[in-house]
Amino acid sequence: MAAERLLILGGTAEAAALARAVLARFGDAFDVTTSLAGRTERPNPLPGRLRIGGFGGPAGLAAYLAEHEVDRLIDATHPFAARISTAARLACKETGVPRLMLLRPPWRRQPGDRWIEVDDMAAAAAVVGRIGWHAFLTVGAGEIACFAAVDEVRFLVRLVDPPRRPLPLRCCRVIVGRGPFSLAGERRRLKDHAIDVLVCKASGGAATEAKILAARELGLPVVMVRRPPREPGEAVETVASALNWLTSDRPCSRTERVP
Ligand code: NAP
Repeated sequence: MAAERLLILGGTAEAAALARAVLARFGDAFDVTTSLAGRTERPNPLPGRLRIGGFGGPAGLAAYLAEHEVDRLIDATHPFAARISTAARLACKETGVPRLMLLRPPWRRQPGDRWIEVDDMAAAAAVVGRIGWHAFLTVGAGEIACFAAVDEVRFLVRLVDPPRRPLPLRCCRVIVGRGPFSLAGERRRLKDHAIDVLVCKASGGAATEAKILAARELGLPVVMVRRPPREPGEAVETVASALNWLTSDRPCSRTERVP
């Protein structure tokens, strides 16, 4: 029997774990390709095939699915990667390719947490200076410019890759690191840099949760940007559930689909 072709939209630890798990559990029964946007300079090694770069919107992704005879798509992108998830929904609808979202569980607020939840980066930038003087900023390279006009806050900025040019911030220090991060490491960082406010996305998941736990322990306020609304469609929170979906019968397969 021909291998089923699975396209994983990746760029997350969960997507990498999924690719590993599919190959470990199903071996040659699945031909796995992971797609990355190409944002990080040195992506972690991945099993299976790898393709890098945008598709050219929903139409481009639909063309890719048809050309490569993709049987199933799992959207395992980051909860804040809204455009690619919309493209996946539209392209799968157009081509009839079954789609699943692997969406990491959100972090849960606990009693005593000092979270200031805001809708977007602009709102985070508007409040951070009212809350602290030394902010730990972990929102990703693409969002730093939103904080350009913030006065009187010293930022400790964590990025996956070293910046190629000076950041557009009035006062900042950069550290480079890629999750998962340990609680001991995050606790030490917050203390060593005298951090009095954390600014982050409500990304959820385990790999970057330690900073939330450390802020909780130290009683620090957290400016947390809410997730964008998720795309409609079937979604699971764990790799194990995604593997189960792969064994479920789908209404259409490559051979059955109407061209
Ligand atoms: P986005 O705003 O949804 O996507 C912007 C464009 O990048 C998309 O329209 C698409 O280009 C391309 N793209 C995104 N993900 C892709 C993928 N997996 N494979 C091929 N092309 C992709 O996404 P983003 O927020 O810029 O994030 C980019 C990638 O980084 C995502 O894969 C995401 O999983 C990962 N990531 C994002 C964050 C975050 O905070 N946003 C954090 C960690 C990791 P075309 O329109 O040309 O197809």
